[in-house]
Amino acid sequence: MIKINPIPESGVEKLLEDKAVMVTVNQHLARYLTSRFNKQQIDAGKSVWETPDILPYSAWLGRLYANARYLPDKELSGNLKIPLSAAQEQYVWQKVIQSSTSGNSLLRVPETVKAAIEAWTICKERRLPLHELTHAPPEDTLVFLEWAEAFENQCRRNGWLGTASRAEAVVQLLKSGTMPAPGQMILAGFDELSPQQVLLVKALEDAGCRIFELAVSEVSSQALRCGLADTETEMKAAARWARARLEENPLGRIGIVVRDLNALRSDLVRIFDDVFHPSMVLSPQIAGKRAYNISLGRPLDDYPLIRTALMILKFACRDLSVDEYSRLLRSPFIGGADAEFSKRAIMDARIRENGETSLSVSDMMHFSSEHQDKDRHPGVFCPKLSERLEKFKKAIGEIPKKQLPSGWVRDFLNLLDAMGWPNGRKLNSEEFQTVIAWHEVLQAVSSYDPISGEMDIHEAISLLSQNVTAKNFQPETEDAPVQVLGVLEAAGEGFDHLWIMGLDAENWPPSAKPNPLLPGGVQKKYNVPHASPERELAYAREVTRRLLASAGHTVVSYPLTDKDTALFPSPLISFLEQVTIHPGEANWRARVVNAADFEKIIDQHGPAAGAKSHISGGTGLLKAQATCPFSAFAAYRLKAEGLEVPESGLNARERGSLVHNALELFWEQVKTLDALKKLPDEELSGTVSHAVNRAVSAMAKNHPRTFTRRFTELEKERLKFLVLEFLAVDSQRTSFTVIGREEKLVCTIADIELNTVVDRIDCLNDGRRVIVDYKTGEPKVADWFTDRIAEPQLPLYSVAVEKEVAGVVFARLKKGHVAYLGVAEAAQVIPGAAGPGDKKSPMENYSSLKDVIRVWKGKIEFLADEVRQGIAKVAPVSVHKSCLYCDFGPMCRIGEWKSTLNIEHPTVNLEEGNGLF
Ligand code: SF4
Repeated sequence: MIKINPIPESGVEKLLEDKAVMVTVNQHLARYLTSRFNKQQIDAGKSVWETPDILPYSAWLGRLYANARYLPDKELSGNLKIPLSAAQEQYVWQKVIQSSTSGNSLLRVPETVKAAIEAWTICKERRLPLHELTHAPPEDTLVFLEWAEAFENQCRRNGWLGTASRAEAVVQLLKSGTMPAPGQMILAGFDELSPQQVLLVKALEDAGCRIFELAVSEVSSQALRCGLADTETEMKAAARWARARLEENPLGRIGIVVRDLNALRSDLVRIFDDVFHPSMVLSPQIAGKRAYNISLGRPLDDYPLIRTALMILKFACRDLSVDEYSRLLRSPFIGGADAEFSKRAIMDARIRENGETSLSVSDMMHFSSEHQDKDRHPGVFCPKLSERLEKFKKAIGEIPKKQLPSGWVRDFLNLLDAMGWPNGRKLNSEEFQTVIAWHEVLQAVSSYDPISGEMDIHEAISLLSQNVTAKNFQPETEDAPVQVLGVLEAAGEGFDHLWIMGLDAENWPPSAKPNPLLPGGVQKKYNVPHASPERELAYAREVTRRLLASAGHTVVSYPLTDKDTALFPSPLISFLEQVTIHPGEANWRARVVNAADFEKIIDQHGPAAGAKSHISGGTGLLKAQATCPFSAFAAYRLKAEGLEVPESGLNARERGSLVHNALELFWEQVKTLDALKKLPDEELSGTVSHAVNRAVSAMAKNHPRTFTRRFTELEKERLKFLVLEFLAVDSQRTSFTVIGREEKLVCTIADIELNTVVDRIDCLNDGRRVIVDYKTGEPKVADWFTDRIAEPQLPLYSVAVEKEVAGVVFARLKKGHVAYLGVAEAAQVIPGAAGPGDKKSPMENYSSLKDVIRVWKGKIEFLADEVRQGIAKVAPVSVHKSCLYCDFGPMCRIGEWKSTLNIEHPTVNLEEGNGLF
């Protein structure tokens, strides 16, 4: 056992001024104590003072060892081992594990590497005798010991020093008298010292260092306990409580200790922003000074600036997928983004429309460059981007196949520079700090040269990505009055008010999590942290005691439920007085909405269309108006469009279009049913093949990547089979002549001119017409008979055709289910169509097709009249079906409406014309 002299907080300032080093248990405490020291100097009226030497344990140990290189003993400094950084050590372990026999079969290498490093650190910190691990060990321990030996051999051969062995190396140097010990040292925030740390402290003392332990003044806390509905309610209640305390005492220091801070970080940011900075709901991009600080950083690759940098580097060695090229084009961090932001967004939409499922640098250059033939150019001219891409391509051409990591870092910087990263727009303070952190990672990657040797670009990017992910980054902020901390970070700090959340019996004390690669018995024997329930209980008891003694007023909360499971307070807080705390009001947005004094403005109309207005869109316009008037207004009056999502191969629309074209070309040649019937089988087959070949060739021109030789063969085969199957159904009909193929009709309904295209119009021998619409999906005749006529396409055609109509039918072109579906003047006109009065059919209540067309005309006029008046109600026929595939949700704000009013399934009464807004 070692006894360290405690020193009260009042004595620390003097020691620090006397150049004592203060070593803290974590980075957060080092920042807090530094800021407190600075404040003391300001309060003492000083304007200049020396920066106190306060740093976390790992940084201090690293500095101590690194400084040994500058000792006068040249022989010693020359023989010192090269210390590995945490990231380098991880790389070496990964290589060791991957090259081992057992490592070959591992599925989750990163997790195994993490467990192995942790096990090795435990062995070193707890000074576990390795021979004890070999006594009847589990199989995994044997494998671990093999890896550990290989790791140590590598370090020995190359003169490296692992992080877990650094303390031992310092002890050796101190004992040998070659390293001078610091004169005075203060330890802060250590609940306990590991055996390795005890050894180090002893060696320091023996070498003449005076060691103190910061005695945090403990206060007798007025602590209360409360249960809240769930974790979300706990977070909201804690945030509102903190705001109230801050309003009472703006100079007070408020702590929120969160048991599971890592998992709850993003929810905490959402809730604390809402409570402390509600205006950020409207302008989230304005990242000003916040009243609270969350101690836990995020992995560096979580920051958009860094994600863009990694994407650029990946683009240098492979094509980008739709999501990736879309994000790159819309990134504000690429050179010229501020000037070309809108153009690049439109270019993204054009590339998607072109169906590009992936994009190379050359492709992107093509889409962004200037073309003479502007009408046929699928992209948008973005001169600044185009120039950047030219430079980028040139830089790619100059990179070697293999080189050392430092060489790759140089080339990565060149590639980023060519793309103008990160200067697409002016960076804010947080982004500047992020760029600095990025350069630190690049520097770390450069230091891999002696460890990794030469590598190709893929390996170099993967190494960089690993380092970026491993770097936990938090932009520096001024000391905020509200500190949100994890249980360990709160060590050594004092508060005026403290809220501790998440202390339910299920999770506090935490369950034991022994390292899977070490025998449980040995971990228990050597009191390894997290190894046994007894250890966790002792740890949780001490942390609870310390936290309760760190503030004058404390609230300890626990959730009453976790999904369907009921929870109870931890036994460690059962002695506290139980109180009821009201979680507070609804969030800011809901409070604004619920404020009673609103003037209600019902704005459901756009500008009315003038007489004889031409609104392009044809039947799609009426269909949209029937489904939801706002969607029709957005698409056809405002010309809004959703972004296409390119798919590999052909999408359903393109497949449908192929069938349409093949049939159009067939009937262009054959013309009548009689001619079809007279065709011998072989000639029929040849004529169909000819039509199919022409249709496929026309489409292949626009999709050269999709129409490979094999794909083309298969597509032709599929189409030919389908067309022949349909012609067999056509052959069952009575004589007709195809007089219209893809026939354009212009009709004026309720003063609105609508362009329509009819797939096919057949003329029967008596001159009556049959309107045919090809469908490759699953058409529903019932949709012609709904109140708002959900499928107005064929009804409109039948109204627009001036001759008498004998039938209106879908031709269902689905392999194995080819058939006519629809209505006809008499059932025998077209096999499969329902005739007037047919039972259990939509025609049951009609005595003639003319009556049906008359009803359709009225309904179509009603919809067209709504369009003319500019009616743009947000009134989907069904929120589930209509909104599911609609792109205009962000425009009509239906999601916001539902969440604000907490209504999941609004019922829309279209008959009364009630829109949602
Ligand atoms: S998302 Fe729904 S409510 Fe909004 S425009 Fe589309 S269909 Fe209408």
